[in-house]
Amino acid sequence: MALCSVCGKRQAVYHHTYSGKNLCIKCLSNMIERSVKRGINKTKALKYDSRIIIPIVHFSPSSSIVLANMVSRIERKFNTTILVLIPEVYNYNDIYQKLERSNIESIARVKVNASIKGSLSLEECIRLERAWILKIADELGYDVIMLPITRTDISLMLLDLLLNGKKEYLSEVLDIDYIKGIKVLYPFSSIEGEALASYEAISGSYVEPFCNVKMKTKKIFYSVAGFRPELDFGSARIIPSIPNLEFGRCEICGGFSEKKTCELCEKLDLKNMQISIYGDKGPS
Ligand SMILES: [Zn+2]
Ligand SMILES: [Zn+2]
Repeated sequence: MALCSVCGKRQAVYHHTYSGKNLCIKCLSNMIERSVKRGINKTKALKYDSRIIIPIVHFSPSSSIVLANMVSRIERKFNTTILVLIPEVYNYNDIYQKLERSNIESIARVKVNASIKGSLSLEECIRLERAWILKIADELGYDVIMLPITRTDISLMLLDLLLNGKKEYLSEVLDIDYIKGIKVLYPFSSIEGEALASYEAISGSYVEPFCNVKMKTKKIFYSVAGFRPELDFGSARIIPSIPNLEFGRCEICGGFSEKKTCELCEKLDLKNMQISIYGDKGPS
């Protein structure tokens, strides 16, 4: 294979369709790291001493691992505290070994007692994850939650929402949201899913997800976007074009909802979800 188009030294392992470049693992890693930095900076979400939770999510453990490692490398100057939560459904040691532990203050195991296994859309998966993470963040006094949602995910969710008229799921498309005083952000919001997936595989971060995301819109999405798997609009541009957004928030998952508890939280009975956290909870 060709040499890396950026450094010109190492062998390329990945072809970045978007820019047409061939990248080596180091330059691919740098590219993702820079995007994460930009993604965080543009939201101005972090302040000095921010306390961040990065969960290993049920639908995408590999990208959660990469997110934790990247954020822990770049956020030192903010004097942040990072807590990584590993659900009990995963092999703790396997994930622990894949984390760059030198910069991560705490790693804890969580038991989430809810009917998570099943076929949910990505929007629904995000609500489900937020439900348990918000509860822990609130209990332990963390003010930032980071989720591994890419630009491709955001585009796919937007399309799903527009095609199927699911306006209330707009809250899952926002790359930063404020729920009960806690910031929820997507630091991968400017990275294509394809680039991230390749990096996960090449860097040895891959872990089989506990639940699979159902994506009805995927076929339509690729037929519209062709070889360039991103639509040319960001959430910021599309949102003002969706009128009459007068939703309250679901008290459990924080998503837009007409009722106190959204349909999904009702359906999955998330109100009665039991969560226990054990191991190192980190400095408080
Ligand atoms: Zn290179
Ligand atoms: Zn809800």
